[in-house]
Amino acid sequence: MNVDKFVLELQEKYHYSEEMVSFLKQAIPAIVIYYGEDKLEIIMGALRDTEIHIQNEGENTSDYLNEYFGTNQKWQIPPMAGAFQHTQVSLKEGIVSTKNIIYIGTTMLHTYTPFDYNNDSKISSVIHEICHAIKGYRKLKVENNQVVVSTGLLKEYYDYDSATNTFINIKSDNVGLEEALNSYDEAEIMSIMTGVKHKVGAYKSLTSAARCLLDYKGVASAIKKSQFSDGNEWIEYLGPEVSSYLSTNFDDMISGFYNYKDSERTKRGQADFLNFIRNYTDPLEYQNFEQARKKADAKTLQMIEQIVIRYNSETNQFIEEAVNKSL
Ligand SMILES: [Zn+2]
Repeated sequence: MNVDKFVLELQEKYHYSEEMVSFLKQAIPAIVIYYGEDKLEIIMGALRDTEIHIQNEGENTSDYLNEYFGTNQKWQIPPMAGAFQHTQVSLKEGIVSTKNIIYIGTTMLHTYTPFDYNNDSKISSVIHEICHAIKGYRKLKVENNQVVVSTGLLKEYYDYDSATNTFINIKSDNVGLEEALNSYDEAEIMSIMTGVKHKVGAYKSLTSAARCLLDYKGVASAIKKSQFSDGNEWIEYLGPEVSSYLSTNFDDMISGFYNYKDSERTKRGQADFLNFIRNYTDPLEYQNFEQARKKADAKTLQMIEQIVIRYNSETNQFIEEAVNKSL
C-alpha cells in the first residue's frame, strides 16, 4: 500500500486538513501492523467510508448530524463524550443502507478548545473511533425483519418504524466487552505509533480486564475472528454460558462510566470478572498442555524401555542401567 497516495485520496474526498493528513499518514501503518496485513482492504474500506469530522467552533452537534445524515431527529450525545463513531441506518426506495461518521467533539461545557494533534490523549481518541469503524465496516445484516449492525462483538438491533421512516435501536449486545476490547486495540496501536507504551485515558480498568482476557491466546484468536467476520466464533469457543457471563460482567463494568450512580454495579462486575480470570482455563491452552504432556509421557516410556535392571554381584545390588536398544 502506498500510504501517501491513499491519504491523498481521503483528503480529496473529505477535504481533510494538512494536520489530519499527517496524522493519518502516521496512524494507518500502525493500524495495519496491529490488525495485520490481511485486514488491509477492510481498513482502507472503512477509512474511505467514514468521514472524520472535527467539530468547528460554535457548531451544534445535533444540527450538524441532522444535516450530515439528512435526518431530523433528537440525538442523545453523552455530555462528556469527546468523540464517537456512528453508523446511521436508513431506508430509501426499499433499500437499507448505512452512512458513517467519526465525530470529534471540541466543545465541552460550552467551552471550545481547538483540536490538538500534539496531544496524545486527543489523537488516541481518534484512533479509538477508527478502530470501531474498522470492525464495523459493512456489517449490515437483515435478520428476522430486524436490521443488525455489528461493530466488532457489539451487535445493535434495529426495528423499522414506518410512521417516521426511521430505524429504532431496540437492543445492543456486548457493549462493554467490545468497548473494552476496542480500548485495548487503541492502546496497542498508540504504542506502535509513538514507540512508547500508551496508557488509555478513559476505560482504564476495562482495558486491563480486556488485556487479562486476551492473554489467553485461544480466546484472543476466537474473538478477533468474530470481530471481523461478525460470526459467533468466540461464543462457540467459550460456550454460551461463559460468553454471556463475560458479556454481562463487561456491561456491569462499563455501567459506571455511563452513569456514576452505577459504581456498585461496576465494582461487582470487576470482582466477578477477576474471579472468572483466576479460575479460567483456556480450552486451547489446555489442549496444548495435554499434547505437551502426552509427548513428555511418550519420552518417559521410551527412556524406561531403554533401562535394564541387572544384578551386580560385586555390590550385591540391583542396578538400573540405560542401554541403547538398537545395539
Ligand atoms: Zn468506544
